[in-house]
Amino acid sequence: MTGRVGLAGAVAVCVSLSAQAPSTSSGQGRESKPAAANPQIDQLKANVAQEVDGEKEDLARMNDMVFSFGELGFQEFETSKYLSAILEKNGFKIERNLAGIPTAWMATWGSGKPVIAMGSDIDDIPQASQKPGVAYHDPMIEGAPGHGEGHNSGMPMQIAAALAVKKIMEQQHLAGTLKLWPGVAEELVGTKAYYVRAGAFKDVDVCLFAHVADNMGVSWGDSSGSGLVSVEYSFKGESAHAAAAPWRGRSALDAVELMDVGWNFRREHLRIQQRSHYVISNGGDQPNVVPPNAAVWYYFRETDYEHIKEMNAIGDRMAKAAAMMTDTTVSMRILGSAWPGHFNKTLAEVMHANIEKVGLPQWSPEDVLLATSLQKEMKVPVVGLATKIQPLRGRASVPDDEKRGGPSDDIGDISWNVPTVTLRYPANIAAGPGHNWANAISMATPIAHKGIEYGAKVMALTVVDILERPEIVTQAWDYFRNVQTKDVKYVPLMRPDDKPAIWMNQQTMAKYRDGMKKYYFDPTKYRTYLEQLGIKYPTVR
Ligand SMILES: [Zn+2]
Repeated sequence: MTGRVGLAGAVAVCVSLSAQAPSTSSGQGRESKPAAANPQIDQLKANVAQEVDGEKEDLARMNDMVFSFGELGFQEFETSKYLSAILEKNGFKIERNLAGIPTAWMATWGSGKPVIAMGSDIDDIPQASQKPGVAYHDPMIEGAPGHGEGHNSGMPMQIAAALAVKKIMEQQHLAGTLKLWPGVAEELVGTKAYYVRAGAFKDVDVCLFAHVADNMGVSWGDSSGSGLVSVEYSFKGESAHAAAAPWRGRSALDAVELMDVGWNFRREHLRIQQRSHYVISNGGDQPNVVPPNAAVWYYFRETDYEHIKEMNAIGDRMAKAAAMMTDTTVSMRILGSAWPGHFNKTLAEVMHANIEKVGLPQWSPEDVLLATSLQKEMKVPVVGLATKIQPLRGRASVPDDEKRGGPSDDIGDISWNVPTVTLRYPANIAAGPGHNWANAISMATPIAHKGIEYGAKVMALTVVDILERPEIVTQAWDYFRNVQTKDVKYVPLMRPDDKPAIWMNQQTMAKYRDGMKKYYFDPTKYRTYLEQLGIKYPTVR
């Protein structure tokens, strides 16, 4: 099962460090400072890029393997076993059960400063099962989870980058420590605040995070997204025969519905920056039994800590009021939380210079056909795949009334504890709405394979910069201390007695895992997952 990932002696065909035409990188009036020419660093970068080239096949294999596991948050057992084994085989020391989370781990190699943490998420999306390389909805298993966000690609990319850098560090006897870690249950924003609380980033100098996208880019400063708390309200009433003695019952489901009605009225009088949504996670058993238990699960999103807390408090009050109306009782628990992210200016500038150096992949006609066919299918602009790098964007602070809310990622919590940036790499197609089967289509195809190869190079080159230029860490911390956290102090959104919700998704995964096992990638028999599935690339209408 474990594809062997060594730094094979395969002849590197080409060191693709040819720059694209440099796009202008203006940080809204602030100039990004490219590093002064340094032939020694350039040579190291050329070498490390060559190492990534040599790992290309291993990298694609890792990506496809994780795609085939398709595991939901907190249930990433196969994924974690597979990825951590590769690192262990390559000399990393693995600390398992990180922060008391069974599928979380920290892999460490090297010694001394700087300490560089490299992470990416690994969980997937409910009901997003989808055949890769097919430009329309065609699930592998109806109803099963799937990588409808592309989280199968980030850790393979980071591992390839780390192994390439490790090789160079060994050859050149460079000091430094590499720490690799997976974002478990990111879709539940379930773990990173707990990693922080457990001290996993205490000695870390910088954190280089990565997230799948449809282009290559990095940004710094205040993010336009939201932070959130994820709260489940569980109501308790009394069961009774719903026809024979309904007056003896107290319906917990009534409380859930009244809370939801209340919230939907209140919505009109909340700030426009907020986003809130819920699902009824327990609606009772059957109609002729007055539901003695029911639960509703809310995400409360806002733009900063105070507003998130305020929304959470409104939700709590509304739940108590619904319990009073129905003579039920309510308890609440936090299932996840995320601070809005803030990304480091120095690190973003260093990374952006490397993005310009590495450039974008050359897409084949087949890659472009898959992309344009999916874009037609989804009725979105037919733009194909990325051919121009995004400019470096950043602002230390964005006025609150310019914020419109949006998605959240619990990397936010890490970004308020250690200088952090997120590399967006081009492994997806600009077509799907996100959290959807359409976003899985490219994720085990040559599009993803090329995207992570180029992403791994950017990451590896950035690590080389940080190892060789100690002023980067100093400047990154200067921005972190004197700009980012000058007026804002990190306080976790979860309470001291909250614990990671490690039981979540257990039942769903148990329901589908046996069926999914038949489709696990077998790299001993097939070169790629598409080959194993017998899918013609691309398959279009
Ligand atoms: Zn994500």
